[in-house]
Amino acid sequence: METRTITDPAPQAGTAPILTHWIDNRTDPAPPVRTQDVFNPATGNVIARVARGGADDVSRAVAAARTAFPAWRDTPLIARSQVFFAYRELVWQNRAELARLITRDHGKTFPDASVEVLRGMETVEYACGLPSLLAGMNTPNVSTKVDAVTFRQPLGVVAGITPFNFPVMVPMWIYPIAMMCGNTFILKPSSHTPGATQLQAELWKQAGLPDGVFNIVYGGREAVDAILNDPGIDAIQFVGSTAVGRYVHETGTKNGKRVAAYTGAKNAMVVLPDADMDLAADATVAAGYGSAGERCMAQTLIITVGDTHDRLMPLVLDRIARLKVGPGMDPGVDMGPIYSADHRRSVIEWIDRGEQEGASLVVDGRPFHHPEYPDGFYLGVSLFDDVTPDMAIYQEEIFGPVLGVVRARTYDEALALVNGHKYANGTAIFTTDGGAARRFQLEVDVPMIGVNVPIPVPAGYLSFGGAKQSAFADLQMRGEDSIRFFTKQKEVTIRWPEPGSQGPLSLVFPANS
Ligand code: NAD
Repeated sequence: METRTITDPAPQAGTAPILTHWIDNRTDPAPPVRTQDVFNPATGNVIARVARGGADDVSRAVAAARTAFPAWRDTPLIARSQVFFAYRELVWQNRAELARLITRDHGKTFPDASVEVLRGMETVEYACGLPSLLAGMNTPNVSTKVDAVTFRQPLGVVAGITPFNFPVMVPMWIYPIAMMCGNTFILKPSSHTPGATQLQAELWKQAGLPDGVFNIVYGGREAVDAILNDPGIDAIQFVGSTAVGRYVHETGTKNGKRVAAYTGAKNAMVVLPDADMDLAADATVAAGYGSAGERCMAQTLIITVGDTHDRLMPLVLDRIARLKVGPGMDPGVDMGPIYSADHRRSVIEWIDRGEQEGASLVVDGRPFHHPEYPDGFYLGVSLFDDVTPDMAIYQEEIFGPVLGVVRARTYDEALALVNGHKYANGTAIFTTDGGAARRFQLEVDVPMIGVNVPIPVPAGYLSFGGAKQSAFADLQMRGEDSIRFFTKQKEVTIRWPEPGSQGPLSLVFPANS
């Protein structure tokens, strides 16, 4: 795969390219009324402007998606599947460019972005099998000479609202399943990372997806409100912060839509005294600081049990001392910048807060500035020791390269800490004791669990989703759960009476006998 070692230069003033909505398989011909700047966080330069859509744009996308719906719903499954195979091939061919655009807009390293593309593509590959995934059920003899047929049909026009931190993978966890079921789709992505989003739309067109089946409306709250209020949208999957997810879930369901929102997290990793300490130290640093901590499955609390703390900490500090922070396209860089200047400020405020709360700041990332890119949104990694459950830095999601170490005396104390947290997205246990790991799987109140695996993101063909404040949803996303979410089920009861078999008229409720 070709990599580039330079970051995009700033365009001349007033010449930044404008990205706008994608409706009916083309970019909007008219320039957008309102736009916002897109930054390269590695340099701090404005590299593009993106449309800020509103109700008019959403209703044009809904109209296109509504028009496309009947034909897409009725498209033979094998023909639908062939479009997915073609799209998968195009994603594979364009994986380096997709990754480059992720790194450019988000800041994560190019190798990390490359894996993001592959982890998203897994769900596209799952959707290629749609003819068998959408098979219904036939139940003969539910009564005398009566059979039942169960099948699922698409809902209509559905939407995905997605965050900045996985501009390819998270949309790819939503739209393949929505569209394979026969729905038409509107994506409202984050405005911070539009480059790779736009390329996905172009690849769908090249793959032969009919006009109006996949649409993008860019924007912020106004576009989201329009999606929540538009009666032409039947269902929404949201991925983002807890505050916005709760609002989307409450408003969307009040408006009669099916809504699932997958939201914020504060994931804890428990390290037992018998763990392989080198493995646990690698996991601590990789899962805490990878992608600058901007992953909903980042492990941001490390719970050390018994005497683990004193053996683990020197190994973690040794690894931290060797981390290289810099532009995500530069070879050898472990961690890129924070995605925005505002978010960088917010992470710094969290570090200030942790100090005020009395946690020990063992590593302070605040003073870090990149010598070549002084305007880039860089921050070094930070490590707090002696974090306790009463602190806000324990309770709240920081979404940056800030780790907190918490001490527990026993396994039970560690388990109670994990189970007492308001977030429940992912967790992990590090141990060489199979019995302890088994107990943890059964006793922990978190749906995604790693055993000696720090970021337990299930494979793209399995389900994904949290609980408590990490999800406002009845089902998980992806896999069978998403097929259920994006379809409605029908039950047909069928009798083909033989001539003369009709009994006397009866008003009794029919018995299945
Ligand atoms: P965000 O909530 O700010 O934005 C998510 C989406 O909502 C974006 O499309 C954004 O434009 C829109 N939005 C933002 N503010 C809004 C508002 N006031 N009203 C309506 N819409 C609004 O989230 P983010 O900062 O882009 O992403 C980071 C968050 O996403 C973190 O909390 C992270 O944990 C979470 N996340 C969760 C998962 C998961 O699967 N649970 C996965 C990835 C990220």
